[in-house]
Amino acid sequence: MSNNKYKILLVEDESNIRNLISTILEAAGYHTIAVGTCSLALSLFASHVPDLVILDLGLPDRDGMYFLQAVRKEHNTPIIVLSARSHEKDKVDALDAGANDYVTKPFGSEELLARVRTALRNSRMNSDTLPSHDGKFILRELVIHYDARRVFIGDTEIHLTQTEYNILAYLSMHAGKMMTYSAIIKAIWGQSDEGSIKKLQVNMANIRKKFGAKPGEENYIINELGVGYRLNIDQKN
Ligand code: CA
Repeated sequence: MSNNKYKILLVEDESNIRNLISTILEAAGYHTIAVGTCSLALSLFASHVPDLVILDLGLPDRDGMYFLQAVRKEHNTPIIVLSARSHEKDKVDALDAGANDYVTKPFGSEELLARVRTALRNSRMNSDTLPSHDGKFILRELVIHYDARRVFIGDTEIHLTQTEYNILAYLSMHAGKMMTYSAIIKAIWGQSDEGSIKKLQVNMANIRKKFGAKPGEENYIINELGVGYRLNIDQKN
């Protein structure tokens, strides 16, 4: 299937990075509109209504967060943020402000394209194929029966605590999307305190252990330290 129908707005002020990303996207069949400032991005967003936005946060006229917040007020358009390595706080802030995902610079073209495909797929799924519609979530060997609150990997039932199940179910409802610690904590416990992140990490470690993942191994659940967790829907693992 051709990607031609997808229009991507690319907002990046460094021309070498902008050209590189444009080339990658065009080669993959996406129509790309590339701009270098926040104000131009806002006006072209309004006139072109892109299917997806790739957004650098450090822009010369205004912070990329301004664009993100302005667009999020009225649109669900998927937004992937470009972020420098080690800027965990930027990533967390962007995700909590409604960014769908982020790509850390420097990145490979395959990684970028995988993120784009995931964000486009999730935005299509959101409205009509939420997993809860048929009561079941299936990802490779992993099956979650929402009504019965039971989890299987292949034929083996995975026995989770209530909290572990709630976390897994929450991640599955946002499969493929990086969920920040604070978003998960808010969804599971309602509010956060000093011990919340530790509590979350302990529960996640238990889930991964029950899934048979070895420490440091990424399988169904991906952790980025300082940012959050993602249910891994990429096929490569
Ligand atoms: Ca920049």
